[in-house]
Amino acid sequence: MNTHYGRFGGQYVAETLMGPVNELTAAYETAKNDPAFQAEFREILRDYVGRESPLTLARRLSDHLGGARIVLKREDLNHTGAHKVNNTIGQALLARRMGKKRLIAETGAGMHGVATATVAALFGMPCDIYMGAIDVERQAPNVQRMKMLGARVVAVSEGSATLKDAMNEALRDWVTNCDDTFYVIGTVAGPAPYPQMVRDFQSVIGTEARRQCLERFGKLPDQAIACVGGGSNAMGLFAGFIDDPEVRLVGVEAGGKGIETGQHAASINGGRIGVLHGAKTMLLQTGDGNIIDTYSISAGLDYPGVGPEHCHLAETGRAEYTVINDDQALAAFHALCRYEGIIPALESSHALAEAIRRAPALPRDAILLVNLSGRGDKDLGSIEKAEG
Ligand SMILES: *Cc1c(COP(=O)(O)O)cnc(C)c1O
Repeated sequence: MNTHYGRFGGQYVAETLMGPVNELTAAYETAKNDPAFQAEFREILRDYVGRESPLTLARRLSDHLGGARIVLKREDLNHTGAHKVNNTIGQALLARRMGKKRLIAETGAGMHGVATATVAALFGMPCDIYMGAIDVERQAPNVQRMKMLGARVVAVSEGSATLKDAMNEALRDWVTNCDDTFYVIGTVAGPAPYPQMVRDFQSVIGTEARRQCLERFGKLPDQAIACVGGGSNAMGLFAGFIDDPEVRLVGVEAGGKGIETGQHAASINGGRIGVLHGAKTMLLQTGDGNIIDTYSISAGLDYPGVGPEHCHLAETGRAEYTVINDDQALAAFHALCRYEGIIPALESSHALAEAIRRAPALPRDAILLVNLSGRGDKDLGSIEKAEG
């Protein structure tokens, strides 16, 4: 099991949390190598999530741009409307295998909370979702969804009352109740084994996409592009191509109003190394190490840290990390709506915007594979607000 990625990652947790972290690591190690566990995981992905998700050639958009073909991996078509459910199913299966009776999770925009509440209902487990009090206000529809699914939403008023504070509270709950409680982390962050475990559960995205691309186009994509909040949809896509050095891996961070304004969520491009939520990673922080409040039009990209493996891929140069600002993401959002009849999530629109920027300079036979991590129904309010 990887606990470190170069100088990033690790298990920077309180002594009291080492017991549950070690128990989880051992349980995941055996589950991972158990064909019955993997078979049940695949079966639920097929029958409940609706996998595999298709590849869609964005024909009109590509023609309009002239240049490379843009191809979409359609995670937006999953049950619950995004990639997050791949991971929550995996972790809920592991929880049940470990004999844990209760699920807890942190959530920011509410998407991971909904995905966790969904599997809690599916597995018949009680579920508490920690959410910053400010996010509870901002994300009312997702709060309603979680409650509808039977979860309890716990509003966290500490700190800046947003995602990082919700994650702190969830860690506190876990350490107190670890005998019967499983903590479902929503991205490739947190102490080991979470970054590797979440990447493994999400790697179905890249594994499918690689095979589909070869079948359909007779070649691998030239570039695989995904947005990076904590980095789980990107790691899931990259996992399929990491051993194909000819495939460029491109992660896209949220530039918000522009990195130079300080109002952004680009941890790799605009942060410094530090420790948050149990891992050494790139962080948006002040000179004396306090976490800075992040900003993005897309609530799902609004996390001050990033998965440690991404930091390592950036440092070694295996992947590159770019920045897309709010206005560019919005333009990409509208382009996909109007040229392809697909309403993308604002998060995914960041990845799409990077492909739109790159396509015109590339030849027609080039393929830009974009992970369409989710659908945009949830974002219509934010878009109306942004555009007046
Ligand atoms: C949560 C979310 C993201 C960001 O999370 P990652 O862990 O970086 O993938 C991206 N897209 C959608 C649709 C999301 O809901």
